[in-house]
Amino acid sequence: MREDILKVLITEQELKNKIAQLGAQISRDYADKNLLMVSVLKGSVIFMADLMRAITIHARVDFMAVSSYGSGVKTSGVVKIVKDLDLPLDGYDILIVEDILDSGKTLDYLIDILNQRNPKSIKIATLLDKPERREVNIKPDYSGFVVPDEFVVGYGLDYAEKYRNLPFVGVLKPEVYSH
Ligand code: 5GP
Ligand code: MG
Ligand code: MG
Repeated sequence: MREDILKVLITEQELKNKIAQLGAQISRDYADKNLLMVSVLKGSVIFMADLMRAITIHARVDFMAVSSYGSGVKTSGVVKIVKDLDLPLDGYDILIVEDILDSGKTLDYLIDILNQRNPKSIKIATLLDKPERREVNIKPDYSGFVVPDEFVVGYGLDYAEKYRNLPFVGVLKPEVYSH
């Protein structure tokens, strides 16, 4: 697996340090709120698992799955709910936990849907942000790292369902895509 990686963009240690900072900041910002963290499967699971442990106030968690990309590298623009949340959202301050904000279409759509369920507030925490690729007007409230316009894998992010278990964020060798 490691031999497929061209370069490491964000190391394990950098991820750890940044998530500790984000967790501390979120703990302060939500001290008087009713935090419900909503993880968008599957890419955000590792970030979610680390971020929730860096949060020192009460936090509830829930999961949902949407599909937009299939197994390839290009967006289809089509987003559908594959698994919905278990909890009703009224009274909660929602923090959507995402792996990467790319075109922004997925989150734009999700926020519309979640807003119809009367939460107190909705904010976004994304591990990675690719602002160059944005197609809709959306900005993360909490962001780990800005990344260049390259397809990245690892720390939850996949290519064709592989590489999610790499402990760092990296870029694949071009020849991996042609297999
Ligand atoms: P968006 O709707 O913002 O374009 O992107 C939604 C989803 O596309 C992300 O949550 C992620 O699953 C996938 N995606 C976007 N860019 C990348 C990337 O560089 N690498 C990987 N592995 N997935 C990406
Ligand atoms: Mg995602
Ligand atoms: Mg994917």
